Order: sequence, then C-alpha cells, then structure tokens
Amino acid sequence: MNTQETECRYCDASIEAPFVNGDDEPFCNEDCSTSFENADDRVKAFASFEGCSVQDAEGYVSSYDEQTFDIGNRSYLCVTDSEADELWDADLENYIEECILHELPEQYRQYFDSEGWKDDARMDGRAHSLNRYDGGEEEIEYNGTDFYIYRTN
Ligand SMILES: [Zn+2]
Repeated sequence: MNTQETECRYCDASIEAPFVNGDDEPFCNEDCSTSFENADDRVKAFASFEGCSVQDAEGYVSSYDEQTFDIGNRSYLCVTDSEADELWDADLENYIEECILHELPEQYRQYFDSEGWKDDARMDGRAHSLNRYDGGEEEIEYNGTDFYIYRTN
C-alpha cells in the first residue's frame, strides 16, 4: 500500500499513513484518538485558540483550576459565557468587599448600594475585570459552545 508522511489529526505527531481521501484523516493509534474523544470541549477550544494539539492543551490545564491554562509564564482563563458572568460578578463583589466597604466606617457599610455600583462597573465590560493583562477578550466556538478566553498573566 502507498503511504505518505503526514500529521496525526489529534496530536500533530508525524506519522506514516496510507493515502486517504477527504475527512478520514489518519491518526497514530487508538490511545491518541481516545484521549482526544475524552478531552473536554474547553480543552479543545483552548487548543484551537492556542494553535496547539489537544494533548498539549491538556498539559497546560492548571493543577488547581480546570478553567485556567498555564503556558510558560502566560496564563489564560477559558470559560463559557455563564461561567464568565459568574466570575465577573465574583470579581466585582470582591472589589466591593476589599476596596470599598473596607474603607467605610462599619456602621455605614449596610447602606452601600452594591447593585447600583455593580451596574455602573459593568459598563467597563467583562474583560476589564477578567483580563488583567491587556483587557482583551477572545471568543472561540467549539461544538456549539462559545468559549471566552482572557489572558490573566
Ligand atoms: Zn496522535
């Protein structure tokens, strides 16, 4: 059978494979395809953002937070729309706690309008809270789900 030097469709390893047509691209072995099938859509979305293999992206997942990817000295948050909204709200709440209420005499803290303050703060946009690096937001669609990527370091 005629073979060609090509790349595994899952891990980008260089492999020797028979000539194939169309969508049926070759891959190195069943382990490789299984680890791809088992990977989270989040990991696959991040792999497509970073332009790396899914296996490499698996290796970048932070050991303490599955939403965070660390590549050398760069860090990224990769989250769905609703996860991003939750983190955004938590970030604003945290700011109120640490930076605003902390400065107010304790007996006046209950009068602070947190919701009003958050409404105004949200005008700055989600990326302003979640991307401390350059304020950017990247959007990647994978398998029908939109993922939002924020550089955090
Ligand atoms: Zn492979």
